Amino acid sequence: MKHSLKLEPISSWLPTASKPVIISGPCSAETEEQTIATAKQLAATGKIHALRAGIWKPRTRPGQYEGAGEPGLQWLAAAKKETGLPITTEVANAAHVEAALKAGVDILWVGARTTVNPFSVQEVADSLKGVDIPVMVKNPINPDLELWIGALERLNKAGITKLAAIHRGFSSFEKGPFRNAPMWDMSIELKTRIPELDIICDPSHIAGNRDLISLISQKALDLDMAGLMIESHINPDAAWSDAKQQVTPAVLGKIVEGLVVREVSSDNKSFKDTLSILREQIDQLDDEIMSKLASRMKISEKIGQYKKENNVTILQVNRWEEIMQTRITLGKAMGLNEAFTQELLKLIHNESIQIQTGVMNKVAERV
Ligand code: PEP
Ligand code: MN
Repeated sequence: MKHSLKLEPISSWLPTASKPVIISGPCSAETEEQTIATAKQLAATGKIHALRAGIWKPRTRPGQYEGAGEPGLQWLAAAKKETGLPITTEVANAAHVEAALKAGVDILWVGARTTVNPFSVQEVADSLKGVDIPVMVKNPINPDLELWIGALERLNKAGITKLAAIHRGFSSFEKGPFRNAPMWDMSIELKTRIPELDIICDPSHIAGNRDLISLISQKALDLDMAGLMIESHINPDAAWSDAKQQVTPAVLGKIVEGLVVREVSSDNKSFKDTLSILREQIDQLDDEIMSKLASRMKISEKIGQYKKENNVTILQVNRWEEIMQTRITLGKAMGLNEAFTQELLKLIHNESIQIQTGVMNKVAERV
């Protein structure tokens, strides 16, 4: 589906001398002292462009710290005064929007648990009609690109053009090394569908663990994301929410310093020539891969026909196991990653089964 979002780039509403844009601050504003001390230490690193702090916290279970509420906005406003940095917080309903605007919050964001709910997103959008403020939209908890785009569209229809997306990873049944599976292809697809939309990565919520923050941040930059939102706290282990994933302002400064910012392209002539030769080779190989795949599927169709004539089931587990084993061994010997070969084979096999099912169940044409 074509999207016709009217957007203003992040460089026009959060101008920075250097790339990437860095937004940092505690998961939650806990006390006035903690909010302001964290903000001052972050500002002192000279590495951040906006301050974040959660005021209303959507917690999984009741009884956990649910945020300071409206008084916290004044702490954030004081932090802005002390540091001169723009401030941002999460809003989930019209009352939050009203209070945040009144307190002079510069940028709003919609959290992952709100993006999943079109009623809530619409309420936020309606409450922003006629207001000129930037809004960042976190990906929904579940990997549903349409829902993410839908939230951006609702805000855009309400007149919000200063929009950015925040990639914070996706909840997954399979427990991997991350709190939220990055599923980078979701952001790549979002950028492909809406190229003018800037995407910020939130490595803290992807990682759930402070040791993985640099790695994820670098990966995000290598995918040409416009910025990072990283949680930072003066005393991370004592934080009232998301303690494990927060870093001190000093560590935040080091993480940002260690990032390698690469260019999307280079003006260097020999770089361009070499790149275009390599790309031609890739194009050629992709053509070959596609045509081999098409030939393979044609053979699957013949096999389906043959099995049908002989009344044999489509799936023969032994054969499938043998394919997996031999191909994975072969792939490994060729330097291919085992998990990659396995995924690729599964995709090919599923398609082959689909084709054979089609052949099997095709009703003979009546004469
Ligand atoms: C947060 O930024 O602290 C937060 C609650 O994030 P998310 O909506 O990504 O879970
Ligand atoms: Mn958090």
